Amino acid sequence: MGVPCRAVMKFGGTSVLGSQGTDRVASILADSPVGVVAVVSAMAGTTDLLLRGAESAVAGRPGLEAAAGATRSAYVGVAKELLARRELADFVSRVDEVTATYRACSGQLAPTPSGANRSLEAAASAGELLSACLLAAVLRQRGVAATAVDSAQLLVTDGHPLAAAPLMPESLERTRVRLLPLLQAGTLPVVTGFRARTAGGEVTTLGRGGSDHSATLLAAVLPAAEVWIWTDVDGLLTADPRLVPDAQLLSEVSYAEAMELAYFGAKVLHRSAVPPAASAAIPIRIKNTMRPQEQGTVIHRRSPGPGGARAVTGVAEAGLLTLTASPGAGLNRLAGEVFGRFADARITTLLVTQSSAEDVICVAVPAGELTAAREALRQASYLRAQDAQDQVSVVVVVGEAMRGTAGIAGKMFGALGEEGINVVAISQGSSELAVAAVVQRRDLAGALRALHRVFELGHPQTSRDAPPQVLR
Ligand code: ADP
Ligand code: ASP
Ligand code: MG
Repeated sequence: MGVPCRAVMKFGGTSVLGSQGTDRVASILADSPVGVVAVVSAMAGTTDLLLRGAESAVAGRPGLEAAAGATRSAYVGVAKELLARRELADFVSRVDEVTATYRACSGQLAPTPSGANRSLEAAASAGELLSACLLAAVLRQRGVAATAVDSAQLLVTDGHPLAAAPLMPESLERTRVRLLPLLQAGTLPVVTGFRARTAGGEVTTLGRGGSDHSATLLAAVLPAAEVWIWTDVDGLLTADPRLVPDAQLLSEVSYAEAMELAYFGAKVLHRSAVPPAASAAIPIRIKNTMRPQEQGTVIHRRSPGPGGARAVTGVAEAGLLTLTASPGAGLNRLAGEVFGRFADARITTLLVTQSSAEDVICVAVPAGELTAAREALRQASYLRAQDAQDQVSVVVVVGEAMRGTAGIAGKMFGALGEEGINVVAISQGSSELAVAAVVQRRDLAGALRALHRVFELGHPQTSRDAPPQVLR
């Protein structure tokens, strides 16, 4: 039997924005062979709007009604341009149901120190439900058999409030039972991104930007032959083109390189998206919705080519904790305690350095996790003092072939020094896949451009053996 799912295709928030975006996505799907599962995000801006509305409700401020109203009019506005009477009437009543649930969830919110709350997650992910229903209706109107599916019926997580981790056996069972019969019947499932559920049935999310992760999880459990991430850039580039204008397309990237880039801020891929595909050896393609004829990037098992850096990236909003051990405790005890507590609180460790003479460890974390990180260390017994800097960024040079290539770190720090950029902390893993440095946030763009220049990444990157783009 051939693979029933040829590809999971995920469309991001800018791709489904407005009637033009939704129509373009519908054309891409209508032109695809059967056996595709679509995954959609909320239209760009919707999740922020819904979250702001829900947070106003928690704070007792007005804003909930405005957010519900603006979301309703954005989706109904697009639907009026794209749907004929019957599909439109059905869709509008679905919008009314979803916005009523949004109001109800937000009304149940109670203030909590971390802001974590199941109802908040359900409220925040209402946009995905609307995008899936709208796209399925547009496809049906074009004669494509399509059905909207809520991923909260498919993907199960442990429900951790800050970073829910998927439970694979449960997700596999539910996904196959629901999606395989649709695929076998030639129906295109249009699945919500971002949303999942706990084993107890409460709605959770996979974190901001998590629809990429939804797509690779679905691909791993179905399984699918490929994952295509459709977005607003041509693929994975040598740098974020918003910060480095001469960034170039990388036509192929290894799983390990993509994981490093995503972990260190390359927003085009969510940082948890690569592992599910990598462990099942499923290639991920990144493609531009506005230029579907372009090849894009393929992320797959690739052996490194000749030496050097391949891309630069950065976590713009990072915080740096300087942790000093209590007298006599020593670095090992301090490190054991700090990282044990960080693991329990699911704090993301971006970079670690140590000074054994002073019994100090420096840890960089995303700025959004700084308060939770400090909270996790409260009353730590081996910690004498903690100091936090919150206006820093982490810049990273990535390339599998840097391994064993002499002079990468020297070139990196030379280039930053020439720009007058002070390096606050540095780290290079023994895998030599990535070299990271902490800089002041005001220096982020300058640092990325200097690194891009010194590693000569601003000219077209050659491809060696990117597999052809055919859906088998
Ligand atoms: P979507 O809405 O499709 O999920 P995102 O905004 O999450 O899209 O991600 C796409 C953006 O990621 C691009 O517009 C680009 O600015 C940014 N980006 C950051 N680093 C990179 C990189 N190395 N290559 C490509 N895009 C990048
Ligand atoms: N809509 C969600 C967000 O904005 C998920 C996603 O777009 O991937 O974070
Ligand atoms: Mg995204």
